[in-house]
Amino acid sequence: MDTSGNGSDLSAFFSPRSIAVVGVSEREGNLAANILENLRAWGYAGEVYPVGQSEGTVHGYRVLASVEALPPDVEVACVLTPAPTVPGIVAQLGQRGIRAVCVETSGFDELDDAGRSLGARLLEATRAHRMRLMGPNCIGTSCPGSRTCVSFALLRPLPPGPVAIVSQSGGVAFSYLRDIEEQHLGLSKSASIGNKLDLDEVDLVRFLDTDPSTRVICLYLEDIRRGRALMEAAAACSKPVVLHKANRSPLTEQIAASHTASLLTDQSVVEAAARQAGILTADGSAAALLAAKSMLLPPLRGRRLAVVSRSGGHAVIAADACAARGFELPELPTDLLDQLREKLRAGVIRLGNPLDLGDLWDMEVYGQILERIAGLDRIDGMVLVFVSISPVDPAAPARLVERAAQISRQTDKPIALALVSWQDIVQHVSAAVDWPLFATVEHAVEALAVQRDFHLRRERASAPDAREVRTSAATTAPLSLERCLALLGERRLPVVETRVVQNPAEAAAAAEEIGFPAVVKLASPDLVHKSDAGGVHLDLQSADEVARASEQMLESAADKRIEGLVVQAQAKEGLEMIVGLRQDSAFGPVVVAGLGGTLVELFQDVALRVAPVTVEQALDLLAELRGHPLLTGARGADPVDLGALAVLIERLSHLAVQHPEVIELELNPVIVYPGTEGCVIVDVRGRIRRGEAP
Ligand code: ADP
Ligand code: MG
Repeated sequence: MDTSGNGSDLSAFFSPRSIAVVGVSEREGNLAANILENLRAWGYAGEVYPVGQSEGTVHGYRVLASVEALPPDVEVACVLTPAPTVPGIVAQLGQRGIRAVCVETSGFDELDDAGRSLGARLLEATRAHRMRLMGPNCIGTSCPGSRTCVSFALLRPLPPGPVAIVSQSGGVAFSYLRDIEEQHLGLSKSASIGNKLDLDEVDLVRFLDTDPSTRVICLYLEDIRRGRALMEAAAACSKPVVLHKANRSPLTEQIAASHTASLLTDQSVVEAAARQAGILTADGSAAALLAAKSMLLPPLRGRRLAVVSRSGGHAVIAADACAARGFELPELPTDLLDQLREKLRAGVIRLGNPLDLGDLWDMEVYGQILERIAGLDRIDGMVLVFVSISPVDPAAPARLVERAAQISRQTDKPIALALVSWQDIVQHVSAAVDWPLFATVEHAVEALAVQRDFHLRRERASAPDAREVRTSAATTAPLSLERCLALLGERRLPVVETRVVQNPAEAAAAAEEIGFPAVVKLASPDLVHKSDAGGVHLDLQSADEVARASEQMLESAADKRIEGLVVQAQAKEGLEMIVGLRQDSAFGPVVVAGLGGTLVELFQDVALRVAPVTVEQALDLLAELRGHPLLTGARGADPVDLGALAVLIERLSHLAVQHPEVIELELNPVIVYPGTEGCVIVDVRGRIRRGEAP
């Protein structure tokens, strides 16, 4: 957590002037010695001070026999000693004036209770000396620019470049680094943050935002503990943030008890929060790096593309991929096509968009064509498919890529380039030219789609108040109907006229007052779906009918705890929606809305937002539903009162923020009416943290 004043300056971890490595010995297989080997291999030029239990020489470095023997101004220490010794050693390092420590040892919180208390002692030691801690249980940092690599796993030196990697797992960090090398992307900095006892992804995003060598930040996370802070850091970050979130097992808790819980998996909350904060999400490392790569292109500002290809087949594939991703391929101007026809004579196979240039092999003409097309007002970006299979001098495709890159930069429009060729040629070209290359046509189109999504998200990016909202939903209890109604009343949410009474006679009297037709329901903490159990009687036309229905329900529910009888006015028919809130352990209050009634689980068509939301954001949320056309008047139906529904969602989102003890509240259905006739809640249930007054 960011407690120190200059919390965002983590440069000691990435470009230190001096490094202590604790845990080094001459023994075969000593892992700390690998850190020294990495520093050697990467060409680290600062001071390195190995520390071990006895003196000696390892990889040419002289080993000091104790932390006390360290000079006073070492910038960062890496620790790889047995877990039980770590808190003591870190305290000694703190006393020696070291303010940055990277603990790579495992056997802490990830292991067991003993590890957890060890972790607590480690954290205490770092706090006592105002140190920042990376890890434990990690492979530390690397930074090609400063030739620093403190991983205990041996890593090949990587070329410097624009991509930063932050990974909760050391192994996954490694595989990202390998992919970055393979794809010639280049690394700015990598951080393996392990158990995140102190520094986490939020701190790293803030720091990398200030790092001039980083242009795009990739996060690999298995859990998110400070969701709101992450949203805030990403929304404020001047660079794209790509999130690869693993560990997506659905939230199983309370599935039987409510729709809201089963519709809101952890992953759906992460997705919604990311969208809200302008974070790109990827479902794997390949997608994450594709997204990162696409962020190296100039921004795509519209949806109109031109496809230029050397192969008719690839042109067709590209056109399909463009259509599937919602792109348009506008006609190219006839004067341009006429000029091309003259210039190219036999070379051109098909003039249009896609433009199939066949076996044209004149790089100069190619360049001119690209330049003309990229310069067109009607074109926002380009897909260039360059197929080069027959043995060629790789200098030719390299020249073309260079030219395309130049044009793309000049026009500030993205040219996504699929170089379809032999591995060695691709390798040659990507090493020679600083421009992202895509391996397939689909990837190139996908990259532009990512670009477009990113800019759409960024325009609307916002983060809710980042005050940490920590909820333990461990034990909850049903919220009484009366308490639910009081909460809704407090926020002026529109509930159909409702009375809670205790016996059939009272029910009949209440119905007389409310008017007919009336509705009677059974309120019982044991009845989750009332209508399934005969606990809802609609369309009652008289006091007699109300009394009879009440008696019948009470009889059939003799084995259940009864809270009372609910008498309601019968709302007229309309479109049934579900609206709910939940307290998420990482992101705090969240609101959800979807098409309601009994079909809600069938269609799983819900959208959500981290609360609070404005009316406008609530309208956006509704627009995300697949069933949105049903709300806006599909097939000649009247459009419903979206404004009233959005206001309801906005109010519920504030209720969620103000009542963190209300773990869950579900309004199902909210009946929404046409035009400006509003909406009304006819059913509510909720759960509250146990121990709070129900
Ligand atoms: P449950 O969800 O526990 O089965 P509800 O109170 O939601 O019980 O009632 C089931 C259905 O009955 C609702 O989805 C709605 O269609 C209808 N209904 C319930 N109360 C009313 C009411 N006051 N006015 C009109 N229709 C109602
Ligand atoms: Mg209901």
